[in-house]
Amino acid sequence: MERPIRSLKEELHQPAHHTEMPDMGCALDQKKSCCDGIGYRLKPMGSLTHAELCSCVSNCPSCFGKNRKMVDGQSKPCRTPAPSRIVNFINSACLPARYSTARLDSFSNFSGNGREVVNRLSHWHREFDPDHPRGLILGGPVGVGKTYLLCAIAKNFAFKGLSVRFIDFFQLLLELKAGYAQDKSDANLLNDLINVDILFIDELGKGRNSDWELSVLDQLVMGRYNQNKIIVASTNYDLKPSTRVNYSTNLDERKPGSFELDRFESLEQRIGPRIYSRLFETSEFIELTGDDFRKKSLDEKIQNLRPQAPAAPRRGPT
Ligand SMILES: [Zn+2]
Ligand SMILES: [Zn+2]
Repeated sequence: MERPIRSLKEELHQPAHHTEMPDMGCALDQKKSCCDGIGYRLKPMGSLTHAELCSCVSNCPSCFGKNRKMVDGQSKPCRTPAPSRIVNFINSACLPARYSTARLDSFSNFSGNGREVVNRLSHWHREFDPDHPRGLILGGPVGVGKTYLLCAIAKNFAFKGLSVRFIDFFQLLLELKAGYAQDKSDANLLNDLINVDILFIDELGKGRNSDWELSVLDQLVMGRYNQNKIIVASTNYDLKPSTRVNYSTNLDERKPGSFELDRFESLEQRIGPRIYSRLFETSEFIELTGDDFRKKSLDEKIQNLRPQAPAAPRRGPT
């Protein structure tokens, strides 16, 4: 088709693509296979999960990635939340790179109650009400897939248009200590963690639980509690309120973190009754059971290193 010659004035005031391009609708409405219609793609970059807009969105012939379309003479978003907003949320979430593909429906450790837990998590996420949010504490032994599930949930919340931030509690303490060593205040980092819509804490209760470490956790938990914001956390410690502990009868002497470490140690012992009771009040407590899949794959590798029983003799040159 021959294009009519347009004057510079026409071109400036009415760009050609607005008048001539037949509107195919936004790429987001066509559920392109490049990104399954979500409009962005995730990949590992360094130690973190990185998100970028899919080219089907940035090159969309209808909205040119601006996520706006005209409906009955009014400009409306093609998709809410905009894919670019989700991309920003995921890129500021600090999700570990190794879980960049994590999805609730791809979880595969069903050696314990994994299937039931995934169903409960899906239900909890579906019913999530930002005005009356309920947090989540996921307990269970090392290597059952708690971090995987946390990352999958974090992405789902970003997809809903909520800002998320993922921290490994032990790593956070190291960062804060490094900040102190350089005479930097920890207020900015902690404020970010207190103000984000949903905070994910991996390995809750890990550390030495010194007074300082518990005061950091107390600031996070109470700061978010006062704003009606929830925490989603994983822990290797027992979720049940502790009954085995011989607490001092004097409440003032109940000093968390001062107990001997043993495998029965509970989360309540680790983080103290005050923080524990806030989390207990605001969160679902779910226990994940199953085999340690990291150990399992290590065992398999070791098995493969061992000399195999001699196979049937082979023919051919030796
Ligand atoms: Zn578009
Ligand atoms: Zn795409």
